[in-house]
Amino acid sequence: MNIKLASRVAQLPPYLFAEIDRAKTAARERGIDIIDLGIGDPDMPTFDNIVRKLQEVAPNPVYHRYPSYQGLKVFREAVANWYDRRFGVKVDPATEVVSLIGSKEGIAHISLAFIDPGDISLVPDPGYPVYNIGTLFAGGRSYFMPLKEENGFLPDLDAIPEDVRQKAKIIFINYPNNPTAACADRAFYERIVSFAKKYNIIVCHDAAYSEVYFGDKRPMSFLEVPGAKEVGIEFHSLSKTYNMTGWRIGWAVGNPEVIAGLGKIKTNVDSGLFEAIQIAGIEALEGDQGPQEELRAIYQKRRDVLVKGLSDAGFKVRSPEATLYVWFPVPSGMTSAHFCKTLLDKAGVVATPGNGFGPAGEGYARLTLCLPEERLKEAVERIKKAGVI
Ligand SMILES: *Cc1c(COP(=O)(O)O)cnc(C)c1O
Repeated sequence: MNIKLASRVAQLPPYLFAEIDRAKTAARERGIDIIDLGIGDPDMPTFDNIVRKLQEVAPNPVYHRYPSYQGLKVFREAVANWYDRRFGVKVDPATEVVSLIGSKEGIAHISLAFIDPGDISLVPDPGYPVYNIGTLFAGGRSYFMPLKEENGFLPDLDAIPEDVRQKAKIIFINYPNNPTAACADRAFYERIVSFAKKYNIIVCHDAAYSEVYFGDKRPMSFLEVPGAKEVGIEFHSLSKTYNMTGWRIGWAVGNPEVIAGLGKIKTNVDSGLFEAIQIAGIEALEGDQGPQEELRAIYQKRRDVLVKGLSDAGFKVRSPEATLYVWFPVPSGMTSAHFCKTLLDKAGVVATPGNGFGPAGEGYARLTLCLPEERLKEAVERIKKAGVI
């Protein structure tokens, strides 16, 4: 038998982290103590109150049957109440909220609902790869919007050609941003809303890091801007905020027609989210928020260790106000890949090469805050000694 991949899979862009993955495995096999700052996956456990809630409700047979695809009413209400408390944004839990099997699931599926073959998605570069992949799977094309440091890593909407604007059906944005750690302000979201209205483009804002912030400037929701709900939705997740990446729970909120379109795909490809996990998700949103404060304080300390260490080592690094990432230019004369390989060989530290997130990420590298402070201290000591600069 001749098994042939469908062209949508065969056409997938090359996996740009393959080289660093190989080098990492090889170094481990040589017995080198690797400090892996490549992965954006929280290292600490899910908060106790959430785990206990799952233990309490998991035995209840009412939760053992097929869930509804849009999510339990009580879960959608908890999401709506959280939006109101956190952002002052009102959403109707009946029509403007849908549960997701992690926000990645919704981001991957949204294009199937709104992109026809030949349509365009506007996609940030560098960016989370799923925006582009979801577009490709739907038969669409991505127009990459470079995120440049001189623009605060915000896309320059004026630079998008007129014919592209006409064919675009979706614009993906993501703030606080992975991988650049940039934050967006109200003026940016206002520009996005008027651009989307003018060209009839659905805004999909990925807000996975809205709660991973430092200091008292809390990131805003795109939906806080007047008119936002007419043009788009926001993706959200418990993954990064409550150390719940393994649980697969997230949601989308906003424009009811867009939510219904996404729901239509979901009714046909999945059967929703284990309801006991949704109940635990309510506990996350409505229970004691103390552990989240502590978590932010831990990340902030880690950030300070890493940023100070890198600066001392001679890197030009800006202290991020949010996210789990430090994004910084690699030494001049080096490519991202060369730098990351050198860092691994000389210091045993894994960084992610910026070009893995798209060509505009070339010249940068990303380190994560997902290891204990002691390991980060060790990492910066090794980087200083290695004399990479
Ligand atoms: C981690 C991450 C997500 C997805 O998280 P889920 O676990 O699928 O909810 C979405 N967007 C970005 C930018 C991320 O970094």
